[in-house]
Amino acid sequence: MRVLSVILLGLSLVACSLLLQRQWTPTLGPIEAYAVQTGKLSPSAIAVLMPFFQGHEDTLEALRIQVLSPLAAQATLEVGLPAITVIGATWVVIPGLLDANGKVRGRTFSWTQPRGVALWAHEAWHVKQYRDLPLAFVWEGLKGICLSLAHGELYDHEYVKYEQEAIAFERMVRATLERQQP
Ligand SMILES: [Zn+2]
Repeated sequence: MRVLSVILLGLSLVACSLLLQRQWTPTLGPIEAYAVQTGKLSPSAIAVLMPFFQGHEDTLEALRIQVLSPLAAQATLEVGLPAITVIGATWVVIPGLLDANGKVRGRTFSWTQPRGVALWAHEAWHVKQYRDLPLAFVWEGLKGICLSLAHGELYDHEYVKYEQEAIAFERMVRATLERQQP
């Protein structure tokens, strides 16, 4: 029994070191560079989202961004957390996400594709929700995490009340942009 535990411990240590060795090599683009310097969303990115935030322009101005260190990003992904988490009015993102052109974890974050813009709009909508009703946002978030955990997930959109509104907004943005495409 003891030998088995030692073997299992050894195997998990090897697995951990292999996971940590896997390199995360993000490319630093203009939107991330601006975010790292100022903690804010760049004017070019704000301009993309602005048509959908008429009457709520202050949301985009108030939005803050925290780019994780590569090690923190790796740990975040390894434990199954998403590439972006909204904490209050702050987007906490893994490096490379803000200027990602392809898919990250199966999701398109490009600022030039309807699908990607809609995703960013979804995340910005959470900032609006937080600023409108901070306590309700935090409460619903915690409740959603507990419900998700009860269903074996870290965070499942299905169990978080305010996600439904953000998802509806995301769909509207995507449909609008797809209609505008030639
Ligand atoms: Zn969301």
